[in-house]
Amino acid sequence: MPVTKEEILAKIVEQKVQFINLQFTDIVGIIKNVTIPVSQIHEALDHGVWFDGSSIEGFARIAESDMYLVPDLNTYAVIPWESTGDYITARFICDVYTPDDQPFAGDPRHVLKRTLAQAAELGFIYNTGPELEFFLFKPGPNGELIPIPHDAAGYFDVSTDYATHIRRQMVASLQTFGIKVEASHHEVAIGQHEIDFEYGDALTTADHTVTFRTVLKAIAQLNGLHATFMPKPIAGINGSGMHVHQSLSSIVTGRNEFHDHETNNLSLLAQHFTAGLLDHALGMTAVLAPLVNSYKRLVPGYEAPIYVSWGRTNRSALVRIPRISAGRSNQATRIELRCPDPSANPYLAFSVMLAAGLDGIKRKLMPPPSAEEDLYHVDPIARGLKTLPVSLGEALEELKRDSVIQEALGEHIYERYIEAKTQEWDAYRRHVSQWELDRYLPIY
Ligand code: GLN
Ligand code: MG
Ligand code: MG
Ligand code: MG
Repeated sequence: MPVTKEEILAKIVEQKVQFINLQFTDIVGIIKNVTIPVSQIHEALDHGVWFDGSSIEGFARIAESDMYLVPDLNTYAVIPWESTGDYITARFICDVYTPDDQPFAGDPRHVLKRTLAQAAELGFIYNTGPELEFFLFKPGPNGELIPIPHDAAGYFDVSTDYATHIRRQMVASLQTFGIKVEASHHEVAIGQHEIDFEYGDALTTADHTVTFRTVLKAIAQLNGLHATFMPKPIAGINGSGMHVHQSLSSIVTGRNEFHDHETNNLSLLAQHFTAGLLDHALGMTAVLAPLVNSYKRLVPGYEAPIYVSWGRTNRSALVRIPRISAGRSNQATRIELRCPDPSANPYLAFSVMLAAGLDGIKRKLMPPPSAEEDLYHVDPIARGLKTLPVSLGEALEELKRDSVIQEALGEHIYERYIEAKTQEWDAYRRHVSQWELDRYLPIY
């Protein structure tokens, strides 16, 4: 429900807000923030807040650095952990504009809006439901960050799950930001958890995703723990994914267009969309699994995908079609993409997934036969399965070959993304790891 400026100003007075955080994200999805005292709020809502973008990752060169932030009124929320005592702080998520009043091409939120507008032209709202997994780690003896799990529990465990009360605090805090949590549980790995929130239009859920990561980190910190969305912090056990459930609904009727009401099955549209995701899977992996470390999650044996495939029951498939109780099938029919991880920039991730799906619709692509077997034990060549990129370097090469995904990022972000991620990959390639020393030094 869109809110008005007057409603927001009234709320600010009523909630005795003294500071306002104006947030946006850089191209790698890290939250940036400018704080203003509440006395500046009229000015900020009427004329935006100017800042120098030259030091923001992937934003601007020195010469073109002035920009301003326009708060999105719908994202207003009081930040509970910054509102103790006398200083109540609220936040807005902002859009970034250039001095000539144009949306800034380097703003990931704008990039998503642009792709959503393309879906709207075809009559569709794009809905996403991301499922973020994360670890809770205990600090080391001197407060240092080390990957020591906070408990020894496993999937859906209760008895040894020491984080039940922390997850409850997280859920309560998320609700104050308007994020409706559907379920939370202990995940497969020790110290690993998942909290799922309500699906919705992709802009709202992308905003929710960045808020979610901040909320969880803050609440963990209040409990003396470190919440991490690093995809594979510990070798040999499950990593953390961000599966994304997706569907298209009609702008006019609100009807879920992924559901075929006659056959009570996946619609032709959903099949085209799925085929588009599969067709661009290699090209978009660098955005969905953006870190060097992401590729240590995408290996056999840990419920993460390794081949371009789809299936109904199979958790090693890249796209899974979840089973749905008969009564809910109309609205709940959706597809789940399993390669993204929670270190991805959700704005860019949703933008490239949507562009891939729309391309499948435009070209009327059809998915290959489904793979229902456990793919960790098949011969990909005999089965005709393409392998997902095995490293960030390989994923970047695939991105350079996929013009649909490049367009979904826009030239500005595409160029800077490649530049930033190539640097990251090169730094890793040059590094000599402990594994290499342990393995080779004694022998060679
Ligand atoms: N952690 C797994 C992954 O990396 C998923 C596990 C699950 O949700 N069943 O994607
Ligand atoms: Mg889940
Ligand atoms: Mg899970
Ligand atoms: Mg899932």
